[in-house]
Amino acid sequence: MDTERCPLCGRPNQCSVAAGRSDEPCWCFEAKIDPAALERLTPEQRDQACLCPACAGAVAAAKRDERD
Ligand SMILES: [Zn+2]
Repeated sequence: MDTERCPLCGRPNQCSVAAGRSDEPCWCFEAKIDPAALERLTPEQRDQACLCPACAGAVAAAKRDERD
């Protein structure tokens, strides 16, 4: 699995750790991850790859009604 890509949409997840920049704080450290997004992941995916900001709900809170 490509850990630099979001398992839900396949776009770069912008994870600092996955990109080898573990000295930088990742956006996800401060972001509130949408629980509904996490529920869409399999347990395997949760252990492997980060969500992208969009799928995590960090930048798309206004589009909340688009989720199913
Ligand atoms: Zn995504």
